[in-house]
Amino acid sequence: MSTYDVAIIGSGPGGYVAAIRCAQLGMKTAIIEKYNVLGGTCLNVGCIPSKALLDSSHHYEEAIKHFEDHGIEIPGDIKVNFKKMVERKASVVEQTTKGIEFLMNKNKIDVFTGMGAFKDATHIEITEGEKKQTIEAKNTIIATGSKPATLPFIKLDKERIITSTEALSLKEIPKHLVVIGGGVIGLELGQVYRRLGADVSVVEYMDRIIPTMDAAQSKELMKAMKKQGVKFYLSHKVSAVSKKGKEVTITATDKKDKEVTFKGDYCLVSVGRKPYTDGLKVENAGVKITERGMIDVNDHLQTNIKNIYAIGDVVRGAMLAHKASEEGTLVAEIIAGQKPHIDYNLIPGVVYTWPEVASVGKTEEQLKDANVEYKAGQFPMRALGRSRASGDIDGFVKILSDKTTDEVLGVHMVGARVADLIAEAVVAMEFRASAEDIARMSHAHPTYAEAVKEAALAATDDRALHI
Ligand code: FAD
Ligand code: NAD
Repeated sequence: MSTYDVAIIGSGPGGYVAAIRCAQLGMKTAIIEKYNVLGGTCLNVGCIPSKALLDSSHHYEEAIKHFEDHGIEIPGDIKVNFKKMVERKASVVEQTTKGIEFLMNKNKIDVFTGMGAFKDATHIEITEGEKKQTIEAKNTIIATGSKPATLPFIKLDKERIITSTEALSLKEIPKHLVVIGGGVIGLELGQVYRRLGADVSVVEYMDRIIPTMDAAQSKELMKAMKKQGVKFYLSHKVSAVSKKGKEVTITATDKKDKEVTFKGDYCLVSVGRKPYTDGLKVENAGVKITERGMIDVNDHLQTNIKNIYAIGDVVRGAMLAHKASEEGTLVAEIIAGQKPHIDYNLIPGVVYTWPEVASVGKTEEQLKDANVEYKAGQFPMRALGRSRASGDIDGFVKILSDKTTDEVLGVHMVGARVADLIAEAVVAMEFRASAEDIARMSHAHPTYAEAVKEAALAATDDRALHI
């Protein structure tokens, strides 16, 4: 039986990054993945394929709606070859997952394909079909991720009533896609199909979309997506979903308790994700699971069993790839005897719609709830030369800073390329910059980043220059 310093169960962005860091630190490392491709949700049915389809559909929308504004005329009809678009997405995924295989080899990490299950706190049985083998691990990192959640009364048939996984590999463009849940998945994938010609209706339980982000972002994104033709039904509680032939019927009650029905050919259920521990047999190792099905961990991501850790979507906190990866690094370093730290307040959140949405730190609502006195500076993208040149005028940058010390407490953006711009805010907050610090830094002209400087100027004594 092979013995490892560390065994990692699950090869998503949590698990594979943990494996690389463990190997870098000189530990004999094994990674166990139940599928025969590495990369987990993120690379196979999450971040990467969704961004590939967002990019492809964005190009199409630019071509049919905006090329003419730029004086570009294309003779004849511009058509979508959806099969090719989905094939391209698959090839992007393949290149990316192959990259992880390469990294495992390069770092001399042993890869086991099969379902990992605890036999006890130091032994893991790996089952692939009829084949079973057991390895010994001094330490184990559980990185088994999450699966789509649903509502108790919904029967997902995975053909017409689908989750994000099926929505990333449809054979046809829906005529009317009804999306349950106006969160990240519903908006990203809803936008893909709207651009490709589907009618898209988003039915959301709360009174705003992306409800955990700053309210100004919810409003701005909804305004932009409405212009693109997406229909929103807020404060609607879905009570039934049924299918007859090719038609799905979604029943909901609005805030006046009136029953509303939506009929479409596809229904995307995107009401969140749930931690995944099926078949892991944690009970054999004595590992505790919370009432909500997560692996219970302390601040060091250690379970109640001291040589077993857990990271990523299977533990508390944001279900984000980069959060999982930071946790993978942290645990590897803890096992190696180091004292790393993660500031969860500085993990950015991004929605890759167009305009993009990006945030870090506290929202205005959170600061108000905590009775923190703050200043807000906001600058509209439309006032930038760069935005007018590209035609991407929706959005804003908002900076919230402490009223007394001017320390930046939160940065919230909507607009072109803000998924990349948010990194400036993360750096600033990591170094505990004031709004004045950002305001005094030179930002290249013309760039979208100038909106960050202008918002910082606005937060600092209302002295934005270009508005
Ligand atoms: P996962 O990536 O879920 O990986 C867990 C792995 O463990 C899987 O491969 C699974 O097969 C394996 N596994 C489970 N149990 C066992 C077992 N017993 N034995 C062996 N293997 C096992 N996040 C972002 O930050 N940015 C994005 O743009 C983004 N887009 C997304 C789009 C979609 C459509 C979805 C669904 C998610 C998206 N996410 C995004 C979220 C992101 O995918 C997750 O937060 C991330 O994948 C979590 O990483 P993880 O390593 O914890 O788990
Ligand atoms: P989410 O939590 O982002 O959104 C779920 C939405 O569904 C919320 O707005 C919620 O109010 C709504 N909802 C819940 N119950 C409902 C009901 N009964 N009727 C109508 N609406 C209801 O979840 P998601 O969009 O499914 O995404 C799952 C996870 O994947 C998220 O945690 C997210 O972080 C991650 N993800 C991240 C990205 C990204 O980083 N760009 C992209 C996709 C997914």
